[in-house]
Amino acid sequence: MADMKSMMTKTGIKDVAIKCRNCGRSANASEFVLDYKSKMMVCPLCIKERNLRENVYKEINAKKQNFLMTKEAARQKVDETKKNIPGWDKDDEMLEKMYKFKMDNSVRVQRIDEQTVKYRCPSCSYVFKINTVTKNPSKCQFCGAPISKFR
Ligand SMILES: [Zn+2]
Ligand SMILES: [Zn+2]
Repeated sequence: MADMKSMMTKTGIKDVAIKCRNCGRSANASEFVLDYKSKMMVCPLCIKERNLRENVYKEINAKKQNFLMTKEAARQKVDETKKNIPGWDKDDEMLEKMYKFKMDNSVRVQRIDEQTVKYRCPSCSYVFKINTVTKNPSKCQFCGAPISKFR
């Protein structure tokens, strides 16, 4: 009962419950605060809510800023990657060309039977048969270029 009594005194004569013009809730007159934004007296709950909202906004804005910065960083990274890609392309192209060049100039043999292959001379492109056992002939029958190693 003592608690009840003290509460009664607290909310007694001094604190007249008035209705908040902002939210319509009733609160003690002494607890009303002038809201600098709406320029009117509002209840503590309104202030609390406003502060909360402002904090949330701040948090959201901070997150947004963070996100935008991350996005910007990511974009810059992509740009950097893009800048690097042409170089890679060139290298790839060059490797491809080199590979093709090598392939074109490599000795291509076509196995006919266990000891005979069809050999294409890398110098003159003359195609002839070679006996892989006797290794005959040992040079191109057309231009005389030595037979390159083959498998
Ligand atoms: Zn209020
Ligand atoms: Zn030849």
